[in-house]
Amino acid sequence: MFRVAIVGSGPAGVYAVEALTRRGDVAVDVFDRLPSPFGLVRYGVAPDHPKIRSISAALTGVLEHPDVRFLGNVDVGRDISLAELRSYYDAILVASGAAVDRRLGVPGEDLAGSFSATEFVAWYNGHPDAPIDAFTVDARSVAVVGMGNVAVDVVRLLAKTADDLRSTDMPDHVLAVLERSHVTDIHMVGRRGPAHAKFTTRELRELGEIANADVLVDEAELELDPVSEQLLATQPATRRNLDVLRGWATRQPSGRPRRLHLRFWQRPVEVVGDRRVAGLRTEHTQLDEAGNVVGTGHIFTIDAQMVLRSVGYRGLPVPGLPFDERTATVPNDEGRVVGTKGPETGLYVAGWIKRGPTGVIGTNKHDARQTVASMLEDAPNLPPAPVRDPEAVLALLAERGVVAVDWAGWLAIELAEVELGQQRGSARARITQRDALLQAAMRGVIPQTTPAGGDGP
Ligand SMILES: Cc1cc2nc3c(=O)[nH]c(=O)nc-3n(C[C@H](O)[C@H](O)[C@H](O)COP(=O)(O)OP(=O)(O)OC[C@H]3O[C@@H](n4cnc5c(N)ncnc54)[C@H](O)[C@@H]3O)c2cc1C
Repeated sequence: MFRVAIVGSGPAGVYAVEALTRRGDVAVDVFDRLPSPFGLVRYGVAPDHPKIRSISAALTGVLEHPDVRFLGNVDVGRDISLAELRSYYDAILVASGAAVDRRLGVPGEDLAGSFSATEFVAWYNGHPDAPIDAFTVDARSVAVVGMGNVAVDVVRLLAKTADDLRSTDMPDHVLAVLERSHVTDIHMVGRRGPAHAKFTTRELRELGEIANADVLVDEAELELDPVSEQLLATQPATRRNLDVLRGWATRQPSGRPRRLHLRFWQRPVEVVGDRRVAGLRTEHTQLDEAGNVVGTGHIFTIDAQMVLRSVGYRGLPVPGLPFDERTATVPNDEGRVVGTKGPETGLYVAGWIKRGPTGVIGTNKHDARQTVASMLEDAPNLPPAPVRDPEAVLALLAERGVVAVDWAGWLAIELAEVELGQQRGSARARITQRDALLQAAMRGVIPQTTPAGGDGP
């Protein structure tokens, strides 16, 4: 067997497994630093989007292949180095994602009450690294900076009531905080115009369907400059967004408890406040002839006691791999890692760490296939790993006291989450803390159904 280690069990890692196992002579170990698989499908996608979350069912099928082992709760770089992995695997594919947020780079960004959307998303999705008490939502008014789908998720979840979300798997402590939320106004702030917004029409439309909130758009901010007109003419999705926004601009608010203000052409220049956030200062912007955003000098202050920035993600360097600080990705040629002296033998990347944080879940499929094609093309010339015993790497981890969560462990976590959900009347509820996840994983043997007439596993 050709032995491959994959670092990261998000969509990119799992789609790579799918492409590799098609061959029939490849054994794959998938490492993840979390006890659970699926990366941002579990910890990014919003809980009120069950259809998108259900992609995990297809990913499950891939990881249940007999030639695949899942090894969760193993941080590559901390628990075992890439150099060590090379003793056990003929090739290594890193699909570690882009885990940290980009900063606004304005004064006041670190005041209490100013957060990244990454922190908020991690908290409401019950990520084991997110402290349970990270958020209180005492703010009356929240400014969300950014005009992408993640910003839309954050705005939507702040606008909904806890009752709207109770049937999801949102953790109890999050529902309890949202139940006590004081929020009345949510300002979604973008530094460019509506034609440049990154959200998709389906996600945008959903904001207008929230029973608890009115959407407010200033017609003047929808006026189009020549650059925007051109975008509209060439991009049907942009036109659809504009149609939705124009429809809202003509609506009268109907007095719902919460208001969503969509604010275009506003560049954040300062998070104001004395220790705590008291507002977001913005400068009105426009495009210059070259299409660059420039300030007009008109300054506003948006009333806000909480600021959430959602202006993109950055990959983190992976110890042992080259890293391009400018793009926050690993330099590569069709997935082959490229160091200063050329391609690094046997090392590959896929997903966000390869191409940056763009695209939807499905984009990673094509991306991972490209990398696997490169790997399989190289395979005949790669030096075989010196250690061929598949148990050896497990023994090394055990020796170091690393509790690796295998597939049975993950199934035990799933079962425990279903049981937890049943206690509160939802299909499932998240277990959030790492210790509790590990406990659930270790709880034991998964009930196995024996196929009729078979001898059992
Ligand atoms: C908040 C948010 C919401 C989103 N919602 C949607 C949506 O609704 N629909 C959609 O199509 N797309 C959505 N996306 C985009 C989608 O999630 C990404 O395209 C996709 O997850 C990227 O896949 P990836 O495998 O590169 O990274 P990830 O999904 O981030 O997976 C990386 C994995 O690597 C693991 N890892 C990292 N470092 C290590 C290490 N040192 N050792 C071991 N394991 C490690 C991580 O734990 C993680 O499991 C969303 C993104 C975000 C941020």
